[in-house]
Amino acid sequence: MTWKKNYSSGKSAAERVEEITKKLEEGIRDIYTSGKFADYLSFMSKFPHYSVNNQILIFCQKPDSSLVCGYRKWQDEFGRNVKKGEKALRILGPRIKKEIDPDTGREEQRIVGFMPLSVFDVSQTEGKELPSLAHRLTADISGFEEMRDAIIKAAPVPVYIEDIPYRDSTNGYFSPTEGKIVVRAGLSEAHTLKTLIHETAHSRLHWDREHDKLKKIPTTQAEIEAESVAYTVCSYYGIDSSDYSFGYVAGWSQKMDTSELMASMNTIQTAAQEIIKTIDAELIRTQEKEACTSLIVIPDQVTEQDFGKSGIEAAIERVEKGPVIGPEERSIGR
Ligand SMILES: [Zn+2]
Repeated sequence: MTWKKNYSSGKSAAERVEEITKKLEEGIRDIYTSGKFADYLSFMSKFPHYSVNNQILIFCQKPDSSLVCGYRKWQDEFGRNVKKGEKALRILGPRIKKEIDPDTGREEQRIVGFMPLSVFDVSQTEGKELPSLAHRLTADISGFEEMRDAIIKAAPVPVYIEDIPYRDSTNGYFSPTEGKIVVRAGLSEAHTLKTLIHETAHSRLHWDREHDKLKKIPTTQAEIEAESVAYTVCSYYGIDSSDYSFGYVAGWSQKMDTSELMASMNTIQTAAQEIIKTIDAELIRTQEKEACTSLIVIPDQVTEQDFGKSGIEAAIERVEKGPVIGPEERSIGR
């Protein structure tokens, strides 16, 4: 099988790890300077469970990846085989050592280094059809109000949607002294959601809570981080984010070294993940409530195809076909 050839290059694991690490550093620089930044963020939102390192490595090797697993996992868990001639994507896995903690006497796991791992994208495999993905329950069944309220739950401060008469050009702001977020009333739905996430990111990442002021970091960096978090979360939920501008990313990143850029990427990913987790939990909670209500109130809407599924699943599917928003009838869902 061709994919195995990668392993027989005569290189030691350490050499391969070094190669991959080098690729990673080039990848980080490339993402920031080549105009691929927005693409990378959309990509990142599809792989919430991977480390930033591995997201970048997969992105550099196969930017159209959508679901990756190891060779065995494809076979054993999904009944799919890697197609002949497909080249493995190389990522890094932790090398874990079990040790007895001398103080507590308990066995602990410690990361002592990294080893090269091979994974394949779903497009490189064939076989049994994939089960429908778990994301069914997220935003693709939500309307604007539901989404807005879920985002507000992710903000650590009160949120007000109101007129901002004294600030002409701003769509919203986070006030570190008053500990609140204000979003301009009357923006389009997509714009309201984006602004909410942007300001939520500022309040979570850049607020020195103890002193009621902003942390000391360059304004450009703070803006890139907030905008990147908003872009990532919006991509995840399929909220139109076409008016984002990352034009200044390249200029700003020229002055940073790779470890600083990496730190920012980690900050963006962690914040985006936490916000998505909060929104998902909130959406699932409200949808389950809605699903139950609709089941109780209008049981005759359960159709024949729904038999065999649990009532809640059937109801959720019905809701899923549901609400459409906006003047252009654009769905907020994915
Ligand atoms: Zn901002």
